[in-house]
Amino acid sequence: MAQDGGTDAGAPGGAVGTAVGEAWDALVATARRTVADGLVVGTSGNVSVRVGDLVLVTPSGVPYSRLTGDDVVAVDLDGRPVRGTLPPTSELPVHLAVYRSTDAGAVVHTHAVHATAVSTLVDELPPVHYMAAALGGPVRVAPYALYGTRELADHMLTALTGRTACLLRNHGTIAYGATLDQAYDRTAQLEWMCRVWLAADSHPTRTPALLTPDQLAETAEKLRGYGHPG
Ligand code: 13P
Ligand code: ZN
Repeated sequence: MAQDGGTDAGAPGGAVGTAVGEAWDALVATARRTVADGLVVGTSGNVSVRVGDLVLVTPSGVPYSRLTGDDVVAVDLDGRPVRGTLPPTSELPVHLAVYRSTDAGAVVHTHAVHATAVSTLVDELPPVHYMAAALGGPVRVAPYALYGTRELADHMLTALTGRTACLLRNHGTIAYGATLDQAYDRTAQLEWMCRVWLAADSHPTRTPALLTPDQLAETAEKLRGYGHPG
């Protein structure tokens, strides 16, 4: 793996420059997908990807449709700007906290509608579906804090303990993964699971059946062999 955090990180040409350019294109594609798939409206949400010691992030308040290959925004793991002129996402503390505390390769934050609705109702998404196991267990809701603050990042880290996703109260979702695709897929699964719970829980007289910790544990075990070709 290249020493991406070096002073020539992202310089045109060379392995590092190519890796950053490719990662930026993938990040922009993922950010656009969150809008196309209805997980984000306008400039809500943000996406980041790690390239060695660099973190590429979406800029704050810029519609993803306007981003070009020249708009790369890169910071180091302490948030110091390394590349780009646009301001990094206001949720930089959240993204950096995930990279410092986990082996994440990418982080996706959205204001997906069903997930945000659930964040206002419960402290933990009731395990209505076995896919909760794919996120590490029942997904917690981090207490509310003002967007873009260190406090929000702290609440999020606590809620993420043993999980790859959480909800932010009155705000939205956070999910991470080894890759942008994995972080995106976990976000989409979480939004879908929130939608399932809201649908089931809206029944006038019945309450949803929930999975037990043992049932989630056996699912987690089985999922270890799921979806890996060869
Ligand atoms: P940014 O445009 O600064 O990324 O903010 C969007 C957001 O979702 C803040 O929580
Ligand atoms: Zn947000």
